[in-house]
Amino acid sequence: MNKSIVQAIQKQTPIEGREQCDSCSEDSFQYLFSKASARGKEYGIYQCISCGLVQTLPRPTDAELEECYGAHYFENRTDRGYDNYFSQAMRKQLEKVWTMNLKDIGFFEFEASCDAESRRSLDVGCAAGYFVDYMRNRGWHSEGIELSEAAAKAGIEQLGLNIHIQDFLQFQPSEPYDVITLWASIEHLRSPSAALKKISTMLRPGGRLILSTCRWGFLSRMQGPAWRFLNVPEHLFYFSLSTLESLAGRHGLRAGKHITYGSGFTAYNGMGPFYRWTKTMADKTVKFLNQGDMMVYSFEKSNIHSLSGLKAH
Ligand SMILES: [Zn+2]
Repeated sequence: MNKSIVQAIQKQTPIEGREQCDSCSEDSFQYLFSKASARGKEYGIYQCISCGLVQTLPRPTDAELEECYGAHYFENRTDRGYDNYFSQAMRKQLEKVWTMNLKDIGFFEFEASCDAESRRSLDVGCAAGYFVDYMRNRGWHSEGIELSEAAAKAGIEQLGLNIHIQDFLQFQPSEPYDVITLWASIEHLRSPSAALKKISTMLRPGGRLILSTCRWGFLSRMQGPAWRFLNVPEHLFYFSLSTLESLAGRHGLRAGKHITYGSGFTAYNGMGPFYRWTKTMADKTVKFLNQGDMMVYSFEKSNIHSLSGLKAH
């Protein structure tokens, strides 16, 4: 028996019957391991026995999460948030990653099939709106929605973007969207199921949900608590390709193209040539083998599940 399983048995907290899986609503979980937050509180990482979705339990309270998401969340964070999100260098890097991701999942072909005059996009959890701006620059009627007032105001005031500052689940759009994006957001949501249900009703039939999230798979299972994306308590859910596909499928979102990438080697300023070479080779290998610990997925809205009252265009 390996060390992590022994630790798991020693530290397991009773969770049966107290929490429900957000995806399938069952209440039986297998304990995987624990991890302490930056403030020293232990959280359990559990896997739903019924659908396999990995989640942080017991779920952190609102107060615990608020401590993580202050005005400084987008600054001075390293592996746990954004390393100075507002810098130009970071913005360029994000744009490069988005272009690569969108190309890999066939978004530009989809874009070409949309009505160039009326195509509408919404970025959920858009922060200062760089992706909203990216889509506006590509000729989209581009909107974002963000809970953090400080981040959203930067986008509204400095870039003149259309950003709604409110809880996404309360948002009432007047028209359906052609594309809705969730960049590294779904793992932070209290209820990914509620969010995907709502997204499904907000997309036109044939519209796309594009999302990125860290990916539960070979690398995460191998590294356990040391996995680079195991951020407790901010990350509430860890999706695998199949648990994400099942959740989306429950809400009328059909799996399209996806990619996985990222080998666990994080880029940093001043990395040496050997580290850089190793990182490049490892990144290429996991992408080729579809074993990356990040994923980008494109889902297509099927013809059912429309929100009444939204006019089609
Ligand atoms: Zn489940």
